[in-house]
Amino acid sequence: MARYTEAVCRLCRREGHKLYLKGERCYTPKCALDRRAYPPGQHGQQRRRKESEFGLQLREKQKVRRIYGVHERQFRNYYEKAARHKGVTGIMLLQMLETRLDNVVYRLGFAASRPEGRQLVRHGHFLVNGQKVDIPSFQVQVGDTVSVREKSASSEKFKELREFAAQHTSPAWLEKDAEKLTGKVLALPQREEIADVPIAEHLIIERYSR
Ligand code: SF4
Repeated sequence: MARYTEAVCRLCRREGHKLYLKGERCYTPKCALDRRAYPPGQHGQQRRRKESEFGLQLREKQKVRRIYGVHERQFRNYYEKAARHKGVTGIMLLQMLETRLDNVVYRLGFAASRPEGRQLVRHGHFLVNGQKVDIPSFQVQVGDTVSVREKSASSEKFKELREFAAQHTSPAWLEKDAEKLTGKVLALPQREEIADVPIAEHLIIERYSR
C-alpha cells in the first residue's frame, strides 16, 4: 500500500485533533487545525451526524495509525502481538508503538516530528547500541542506547537538531544527552507518560476483538 501523501494537516482536521505531524509548525498559530477547526472538504463545515459505536472505534484506530505513521496491516500485527502478551492489551499496544525507533528518536528530540524521525532513521543517521539501524519500526528495548552517527552529527541538520533536543522535554522513560545526541531507554513507558497522545485505546481493542 502506498504511503499517504496528501497534505498531512488534513489528517489532523479529519480527526479533530492535533497529530503533530509537521514539527515546529504544529506549535505555532500557523497550525491548520487552529485556523480551521473543522473537517476538510466541501461538507466539512456542515453539522456532523452522531457517530455510531463502530464509527467511533474506526476513527480511534485511524487516529492512532496516523499519529505513529503505521499501515493497516502493520497495526493489526501490533494488536495481535499485544493481545498474545500477558497484561493490558491497550497499554501493550501503545508501548509497542512508543518503542518504535522512529518514535524514540522523536521523543528524544532528535527529530521535530514522528514523520521526520522516520525519514532520518531511513536515511541511516542513527545507531542502536553502536550498530546502524535504518528501519523505522525497529523495536528498541529497555537498556538500549540510541545515538546519531558521528558523520551525521556534524551536519547542519543535526547542529539544528542538537539545539532543538536541548529545549525538548523527553519523557522520564528515556534518558538524553542532547549535546552528545545520545539517549537511553530506561524503562517501558507507563500509560500516564503517553498522555499527550489523545487516544481511547479501549475503542481500538473493542474493534479488533469483535
Ligand atoms: Fe496537525 Fe501540525 Fe498541521 Fe497543526 S500544523 S494541523 S498539528 S500537522
